[in-house]
Amino acid sequence: MRTRREFVEEAAGAAGIAFVACNLSGAAPAQAQTRRREVVVNGRRVKTIDVHAHCAVPEAMALMGRKVEPQTLLMSQPADRIRAMDEQGIDMEALSINPYWYRADRDVARELIRIQNEKLAEACAANPERFVAFASVALQHPDLAAEQLEEGVKKYGLRGAGIGGSVAGEDLSDPKFHPFWAKAEQLGVLVFMHPQADGAAGDLKPRLKGSGGLENAIGNPLETTVALSHLIFEGTLDRYPGLKICAAHGGGYLPSYAARSDAICVTFPDRCTKPLKKKPTEYLKQLYFDSLVFTPEALRHLVAETGPGQIVMGTDYPFPWTKTSVDHILGTPGLTDDERVAMLGGTAAKLLGIKA
Ligand SMILES: [Zn+2]
Repeated sequence: MRTRREFVEEAAGAAGIAFVACNLSGAAPAQAQTRRREVVVNGRRVKTIDVHAHCAVPEAMALMGRKVEPQTLLMSQPADRIRAMDEQGIDMEALSINPYWYRADRDVARELIRIQNEKLAEACAANPERFVAFASVALQHPDLAAEQLEEGVKKYGLRGAGIGGSVAGEDLSDPKFHPFWAKAEQLGVLVFMHPQADGAAGDLKPRLKGSGGLENAIGNPLETTVALSHLIFEGTLDRYPGLKICAAHGGGYLPSYAARSDAICVTFPDRCTKPLKKKPTEYLKQLYFDSLVFTPEALRHLVAETGPGQIVMGTDYPFPWTKTSVDHILGTPGLTDDERVAMLGGTAAKLLGIKA
């Protein structure tokens, strides 16, 4: 049986061979090769911010024997990423790392998160005009996660936390996670919630096989729908009313069929066992959602259910779901100029402490 130290040393050794170096601290600010698109709304230059942008830190992944795919997730070539941002008219990305460490023991999780948050801070420091980042946290150890969030914000200058929609099969509304929510509320920082591949869809895996990538196509939005619903119905959002949570992929299916969440408590009152301070749909107006819903009609509906001030731009970079997130917001009918400016970056700037 290997000790943890041996395992860590082996993994670290493998990293040196297998992975591209992620040496951002030494990297000069990247120069854009393409012409940078500058987004203007009614004569006003808007700082656009993408809150849904993935990256990976190979040195941390090696601690769990994992490799980076696709390679574009790496931050060792910031010039490529900045070129894509310039083409799409994105001024800043708020970087996050999808959790893969929720089953790691406390020691491994502590080391892994330390490495990741340091590297995220380095990536931001190398190009401070282009990147901010969400701290990664070991949410399976909620007290440790609270510490890591505080350290990430105060020591590393990170702007919030990136978390999964579940934690190794446990729901975010479980009271064990209260210390983390309390810390996030106390710090007043944004929590970006992204679905976990082994989340709600994990149990459905046998039925989501086959053509269509259903695990991702419908599994990911379902995970987010389940996560948000528990946070509402279990009273977590009542307990921590100051929480700022942003749900990826437009909040999954919840805003599309929101009224059913009110109707269930009317139709079957005995099934709504926790008294809530508001109607379930009213909580949607205090949550934030990214704009990754593909059509003007979908964005219009999302705004109608949640409010124009609750939407922030998200691309899911480097996964090529969209390259037109700016035009999506500019082209959706029925929005005022101020609402477009808020969605393109104004709201995210406030939430992330970015000078607009
Ligand atoms: Zn994503």
